[in-house]
Amino acid sequence: MNVNELLRKNVRNMAPYSSARSLNSSSEMVLLDANENPFATRGRYPDPSQTALRKALANFYNVDCRNVLAGNGSDELIDLLMRAFTEPRQSNIIIPQPTYGMYEVLANIQNCNIRKVLLNVDFMLDADRILSVTDSSSRIIFICSPNNPSGNEFSVGEIEKVLKSFSGIVVLDQAYADFSSAQPWRNRISEFPNLVVLQTFSKAWGLASLRVGYMFANQDIVDVLMRIKMPYNLNSVTTGLVIEQLQKSYLVQSWIERICLERQLIVDALQNLSIVECVYPSDANFILVKFANSQLVFKRLQQRGIIVRNRSNELLCDNCLRISIGSPNENKLVLAVLKAFEIECLSNNNEEK
Ligand SMILES: *Cc1c(COP(=O)(O)O)cnc(C)c1O
Repeated sequence: MNVNELLRKNVRNMAPYSSARSLNSSSEMVLLDANENPFATRGRYPDPSQTALRKALANFYNVDCRNVLAGNGSDELIDLLMRAFTEPRQSNIIIPQPTYGMYEVLANIQNCNIRKVLLNVDFMLDADRILSVTDSSSRIIFICSPNNPSGNEFSVGEIEKVLKSFSGIVVLDQAYADFSSAQPWRNRISEFPNLVVLQTFSKAWGLASLRVGYMFANQDIVDVLMRIKMPYNLNSVTTGLVIEQLQKSYLVQSWIERICLERQLIVDALQNLSIVECVYPSDANFILVKFANSQLVFKRLQQRGIIVRNRSNELLCDNCLRISIGSPNENKLVLAVLKAFEIECLSNNNEEK
């Protein structure tokens, strides 16, 4: 794969913004190049090359820092990939259905053609079906594993097949990898030059308010995104807090264990409810649940002050709600409301008879 050939033409030819400081930075120098306030404690622009954060991530995940890049949420990285590798109106990208909605939104902003391909009814990925809709204008295939909203991890073999057979970029969104026991894909970028793995601080790491996502990819891909990203896409306060959190991974690990434990309790309880048709297996911090009548359940939860994600209009998701795993008290409340609703439904049925 030649990254240069996949690039949007104007991106290939453009000169990136260069700040005087990215070339030779040192806090000991007299910095008079960026019109900053010399008196203030937060008066300096942050490091455009994210050196400290990339080193911290590389250290934590045991990869080379040239293969890591951070964004203002992984959403920014998805946006950058779209801008770098698709030509408006000409290129197409492939999005399995159902999945995370931002791929489509960001593709539409770039006026990129979208080819949707159904997952299997059990939400597993069929590599051949994905590959069958690709052509010479296909630039990116998005694969979200564990998948949002279904929660399942795709099989390694199918993903490998896509990676090997497709000559464009394969974006593997692993926002929920922290909740899964499967091998993470970030260690395999040297095997697959077209692989981009996305992760985020927004879910297991508990820092959604800060907006930081990160990616693992080969250096030529990282370099391209580095050229087109906003020079100061991460602020220094956020960067500092994220590096601190990396040092507290034991805390995050204990959160993950508690969330997975709660997930099991909820799954078991839901499976005993007659208003529940199916609880799909989850490797993430949410579960997709098929109800006999999701509209009524959604409304009842809302009346009780509980907001869940209605996915019933997504392909393959008839009557499905996506429920995040909350605190033990929140989860108990959800179960209590559902239990009460079930009793009500049963007695209504009896009255009708
Ligand atoms: C939540 C989520 C993201 C967004 O991550 P940010 O880093 O908060 O932008 C990306 N992909 C998937 C599949 C998600 O569910």
